[in-house]
Amino acid sequence: MQITVLKYGGTSVGSAERIREVARKVALRYQEGESLAVIVSAMAGETDRLIGLSGQVSGFPDLRELDVLLASGEQVSAALLALALKDLGVPARSFLAFQLPIVTDDNHSLALVQHIEVYALKRHLQERKVAVVAGFQGLTVGGDITTLGRGGSDTTAVALSAAIQADSCEIFTDVNGVYTCDPNIYPRARKLEQISYDEMMELAVLGARVLHPRCVELAKKYNVTIRVRSSFNDGPGTQVSEEREQMEGALISGVTYSKGEARISVFGVPDRPGIAFRIFNSLAMESINVDMIIQNVGRGNLTDLTFTVPVADLDRAVKRVEQVAREIEAEGVLTDRDIAKVSIVGAGMKSHPGVASRMFGALAREGINIIMISTSEIKISCIIETRYTELAVRVLHDEFALERDGE
Ligand code: ASP
Ligand code: MG
Repeated sequence: MQITVLKYGGTSVGSAERIREVARKVALRYQEGESLAVIVSAMAGETDRLIGLSGQVSGFPDLRELDVLLASGEQVSAALLALALKDLGVPARSFLAFQLPIVTDDNHSLALVQHIEVYALKRHLQERKVAVVAGFQGLTVGGDITTLGRGGSDTTAVALSAAIQADSCEIFTDVNGVYTCDPNIYPRARKLEQISYDEMMELAVLGARVLHPRCVELAKKYNVTIRVRSSFNDGPGTQVSEEREQMEGALISGVTYSKGEARISVFGVPDRPGIAFRIFNSLAMESINVDMIIQNVGRGNLTDLTFTVPVADLDRAVKRVEQVAREIEAEGVLTDRDIAKVSIVGAGMKSHPGVASRMFGALAREGINIIMISTSEIKISCIIETRYTELAVRVLHDEFALERDGE
């Protein structure tokens, strides 16, 4: 049996009318003979609304209860889509995570999928019925409801595709696919036909909000080919899959940005073993992710350390870092929220030297100062002042000729 997994995001199921529209599309494919498992997110804005509600009754909402609350959003849309399908004469039923089950660890609000029991689902599909599965939810071995982290329905779709060995996994969203940069910033952005898992993962982590990074990681691990498509038209979207064999194509696949980080500098740090460990360990203990780190070459016995953390964690991070700074007798701590990260991503840069200097040159010509730099095999990121973000994206898009097929 050939199985197709479809996933519809919050905007696609954002109103009764849109749910009926999704039902019509699913019904058509069902009538053409496809076996369909359809994953749904909560209706647009619903998860945020529920989080807001929790904040009105509790200062620090307990994560177990928060998961019980948030999982309800997907329960509603799964039921509504099943109802709409039945109305069109399609035999459909909803599956909540506990009914399969989708087993996760007990890390509430960020649970990891461990195993999906697909027996009941497969039998349902074999009976020529459509399965509507609530995304984002899981169940612990102990019987507690969990959620997979914001945007986690993408992960449900990929995990389920791997578990039932689906022949294709289509993720429907409110954009036409993956673009060379945010089309809202630069209309010259071009939709990509294909992108590799590694590039997509970098783009997702670096700020492109099309797919959840964890879902891409999972897709790579289980070799699930994803097609990102628009739920508002029949365009082919972008295929996310293994790297194409011959990289004679583009040097750079995309330019992306994020404004979600802040910078912390610790000045006059004693230059001796164990100091970096103390600073970063204090942040690790708080589960704060540190992204870029720069340590200057020591002058005398002192050095400076600069790094970035998510803006949302800045206040907590500074508290910790100031405490360590006092203990190690550093000279001071400074922070800066007014930064953005602009990145270029492309598997092609592995085999081509000179990409970094072209990036720096393009920024320099616009008078954009680079505050920090970090690189990996397939990406280069620069921290710049926030006000230059959009300009930097456009300039880099032009520099690497992404409007055409790249170079
Ligand atoms: N409803 C959840 C969220 O908004 C999961 C999802 O949409 O994928 O994060
Ligand atoms: Mg989403």
